[in-house]
Amino acid sequence: MGDTGIPVPLWAEKVADGLGRGPHVVVTGISPSGNIHNLREVLVAEAVANALKNRDEEVRFVFHADTIDPLRKVAPGVPASFREFFGHSLSRVPDPEGCHASYAEHFLIPFEEALHEMDMDIEVLRSHELYEAGVYTDVTREAIEHTAELRDILQEASGREMPEHWSPYLPRRTSGQLTGARVLEHLPGEHSVVFVDEDGFEGAADYSKGEGKLGWRVELAARWKALGVTFEPFGKDHTSRGGSTDTADRMAREVFHYPIPGRHEYEWISLKGQGPMASSKGVVLLPKDLLGIMPPNALRRMMLGRDPARALELDPWEGFPRFMDEFNAETGDSEVPFNHLALVAQTTGEDVEAAATMLRRGGYEDATRDPERLARDLSYARNWAGEWAPESMRIGLLEPEESRQVAAGLDEEQRDYLAAVAETLGPEMGGDEVQDLLYSTAVGRGLKPKRAFAAVYKTLLGKTSGPKAGAFIAGLPLEEVRRRFSA
Ligand SMILES: [Zn+2]
Repeated sequence: MGDTGIPVPLWAEKVADGLGRGPHVVVTGISPSGNIHNLREVLVAEAVANALKNRDEEVRFVFHADTIDPLRKVAPGVPASFREFFGHSLSRVPDPEGCHASYAEHFLIPFEEALHEMDMDIEVLRSHELYEAGVYTDVTREAIEHTAELRDILQEASGREMPEHWSPYLPRRTSGQLTGARVLEHLPGEHSVVFVDEDGFEGAADYSKGEGKLGWRVELAARWKALGVTFEPFGKDHTSRGGSTDTADRMAREVFHYPIPGRHEYEWISLKGQGPMASSKGVVLLPKDLLGIMPPNALRRMMLGRDPARALELDPWEGFPRFMDEFNAETGDSEVPFNHLALVAQTTGEDVEAAATMLRRGGYEDATRDPERLARDLSYARNWAGEWAPESMRIGLLEPEESRQVAAGLDEEQRDYLAAVAETLGPEMGGDEVQDLLYSTAVGRGLKPKRAFAAVYKTLLGKTSGPKAGAFIAGLPLEEVRRRFSA
């Protein structure tokens, strides 16, 4: 744990060790063309930035939102009519739901809010603003001047012939599109290009004012130089042979004369039962939603896994309690099993005092010392139980009247068993003692434990199975249990 309060994983220390002296600029870039789910990329960058900070390096940590990128696909949930905006910058396409300033902002803002909620020390930069502010002016001039070399690199990497009039720069046409124009002339003194579009209209674009952008493969290398990037993580699709890092590396070395930034390649995250996360297919988990069921550092741990270079399958559904228990064991944050917390949260609703009492009875005194934290943890557990938990984990204590009706439907052996348990239960009994009592009472009366426990679950929860009965019952007020069992 460093000054940031965020644990720095070992792999990130190693990556930072290989980066040399700063000052450092750590960058991660994502296009807000749909729901942004790629938290793994940002967290890889954050971990390395924090590892550098721990070594007292000067670090600028940047999220480069590719807001000037053209719309190429209509995101799931967006009306098909948005195809009319294909080729237009995301920052200039309207918000499909009308709630933000643009299409880009609609997807970017919720992600940005999640980063803030995680207390991430990151600068969110919008690429259309960088172009408008002239940050890309020099590298754009350089790129246009070296059009032939850039073209050769792309041809060699892709093995495909590039169009004859290919240009690294995409001027914005009067129609607003960044596609379909041919650059005719470069006027470096005026930082502009003269172009003709598909319809034969001629125009000029001033590249110091954001009137166009670099093509994305060139922009990647140009961005390193424009921002002084020293580290950037990449998903493995970018680092394949002929991929965008291959071309960007050559462009950086041969054209921009800029050293290739350090890099860490990360593997994909898939969702249990749904395949790889992909915003274009709607297979996504949004950071904002995940922050509703766990604290930021647990989310960091979940998304990064043990090493982000390894593929990871997320299961925030049935597998979530186990994940939280492992996380809590590693951090020493809490000793209450998550399943039990979910049970307490569901039984006591929003009554934190009642929840604290139930936890104390269950033997989890420590968890009740910080009421604010307890309230927070209970709300995570309640949200999980309400929206993510499998049916078997969703429970609610039956009202006494409902319990009596259920108990009336049990056979005599089961009813007598419950009455016997009610008589023997004591106020000081812990979870294990109650569990022993439930079991030994059944055996003593010649009742099969399976039928005995079914009677317990049915009477309390209206189900034939449920959480560990001993801890659950020990957590409930004794009178509540007696009222239901001795009916
Ligand atoms: Zn919106």
